[in-house]
Amino acid sequence: MPFSIIEPLNQKLELEWVVDAPCQVFLKREDLLHSQVSGNKLRKLKYSITKALETQKNTLITFGGAYSNHIAAAAAAGKIVGLDTIGVIRGEELEDKYKDNPTLSFAESCGMRFKFVSREHYRLKDTHPYLNKLTSQYPEALIIPEGGTNALAIKGCEEILTRKDSSFNYICTTVGTGGTLAGLVSASKEHQQIVGYSALKGTFQDSEVKKYTQKTNFEIKGDSTFGGYAKIDSDLVRFMNTFKENTGILLDPVYTAKMMYGIVQDIKNGYFPENSRILAIHTGGLQGIEGMNQKLKRKNLPQIKV
Ligand SMILES: *Cc1c(COP(=O)(O)O)cnc(C)c1O
Repeated sequence: MPFSIIEPLNQKLELEWVVDAPCQVFLKREDLLHSQVSGNKLRKLKYSITKALETQKNTLITFGGAYSNHIAAAAAAGKIVGLDTIGVIRGEELEDKYKDNPTLSFAESCGMRFKFVSREHYRLKDTHPYLNKLTSQYPEALIIPEGGTNALAIKGCEEILTRKDSSFNYICTTVGTGGTLAGLVSASKEHQQIVGYSALKGTFQDSEVKKYTQKTNFEIKGDSTFGGYAKIDSDLVRFMNTFKENTGILLDPVYTAKMMYGIVQDIKNGYFPENSRILAIHTGGLQGIEGMNQKLKRKNLPQIKV
């Protein structure tokens, strides 16, 4: 495996500027795993890439939206290991203007080729007929689902937690598809509660997690979604900027900022018992800031400071 993963540091957070915390909070800096394949996307891709190489595939095909961290990570990872990459991208209208989009420009610079498809077409992406057709069209390709979530991804995400982390009684993560949460739950100890902060409306990820683990020591919270996936307002931007000023750590607007905001609220409202030891996972995603700042500018909202 050409990615050397060093165990990331658990950095202690001083949060007195925002909350009087009667517990200890640490942030696992998975965002520093790799400069281009950051955080949970590296964890999620690791074993799929190993499998692609072992089975002599020459291409990765995967799916995502215009700002997808997974698309950026898959493109970069493919380039590093010498696999071609094809991104099936939601939104036909992007065909003529994707060069203005920092995520897709980056992916293209890594050699990814795109298929821009309508939303109706995109919805078929997990169906058997569609996948069978894709497989016969590209027999030498490994197909990875949107967000990278499959059984191999769960195995990769189990490796986020190490033996040393058993001293924590709460593990917090952000939740998209739920793959990362499933890996953490699967790797957790009995005395640990895994708290997932949803980045999108609804808590349908519950059943996704249950597909991969029998353990039930987890909860998905939906109070800090800021209205839904990739939705953001000036309060969240302000929170991200003061968090950066006070801790030196950059959060991403789609996932980790909403988790951190949720953790602070939950400390304030007494959800975590006194003397809890909390380990939050910084799952990365910083590549998305540039695209988000473009959107914020168009809406005359404050910029995320990098
Ligand atoms: C994709 C992503 C997630 C969501 O992970 P899931 O396994 O889909 O729940 C969380 N954080 C970041 C930074 C991501 O890029």
